[in-house]
Amino acid sequence: EYLGVDVGGTLSKIVYTTGDYWEYKKMPTTQINAVDHWINSHFNNPVIHITGGKAGLFTQKSALPVKKINEFEATCEGVRWLLEEKGLLSRTGSRFMVTNVGTGTSIHFVNGDSYERIGGSGVGGGTLLGLSYLLTGEDNYDEILTLGQNGKGENLNITVGDIYSHEVPPISGDLTASNFGNVSRMKEESFSKEDYISAVVRMIGETITTMGVQAAERLKTDSVVYIGSTFSHHDTLKDIIKGYTELRGKKAFFLEHGEYSGAIGAFLNK
Ligand code: ATP
Ligand code: MG
Repeated sequence: EYLGVDVGGTLSKIVYTTGDYWEYKKMPTTQINAVDHWINSHFNNPVIHITGGKAGLFTQKSALPVKKINEFEATCEGVRWLLEEKGLLSRTGSRFMVTNVGTGTSIHFVNGDSYERIGGSGVGGGTLLGLSYLLTGEDNYDEILTLGQNGKGENLNITVGDIYSHEVPPISGDLTASNFGNVSRMKEESFSKEDYISAVVRMIGETITTMGVQAAERLKTDSVVYIGSTFSHHDTLKDIIKGYTELRGKKAFFLEHGEYSGAIGAFLNK
């Protein structure tokens, strides 16, 4: 029985098929022994196609035989497969960017059958957890999601419109000029945990969008496909990114189960 496994810096993703359908499973990479145990208790003689930065940790801990697959190739392969399955390739075109927001962020360019890693950033899902913890003391992922959805993060920022207060700005006044830059307002007003986390979410969303959009501009494509567990259940982050991508003249695509792209690509690599 075949399995695709993506052992990421934070979460391990497992995919396999039952008939015509994908089955999905996610577990924390910190509990790598539980991942091994789960596979052993659900499969007889599994053939594991493994990818992700912590694939080596799994192979060290597990007695199961594995075939290692390159993470970036697997990710892009999986994205293409999901786009095709959902009938979205006609909308993205064959040239598009993939922005994978995991613990960190990686940006890829897919052009037909070829893939290229364009760049990345240390600003990612891990940043959301870390800055939220520093600012509020919260370390529960679901709690962080809920708090962030109920705050007004914009108030901690300075917009282009704030700076160009007495004339028409040369670029959209709605663009953020400085995330967390509004120190004078911070001194005058008090902000809640909700506001802090909301501002963190906004900074991460805007930073990630900017990188992908700039790469898209350079590589002459309009489509940016966003994947990674950082988006799962996170509608506010998706809204910010969608809005900001469109404000920058590009199209944003979010894939259901997009965070399983690496595992799917590994699975498909036969
Ligand atoms: P990388 O690809 O950078 O090695 P990864 O593959 O583990 O990391 P993802 O699984 O795509 O990364 O995303 C991890 C991020 O998803 C976390 O940083 C966090 O923001 C978010 N996340 C979503 N669900 C959870 C969860 N249950 N527990 C922890 N983080 C979660
Ligand atoms: Mg990953």
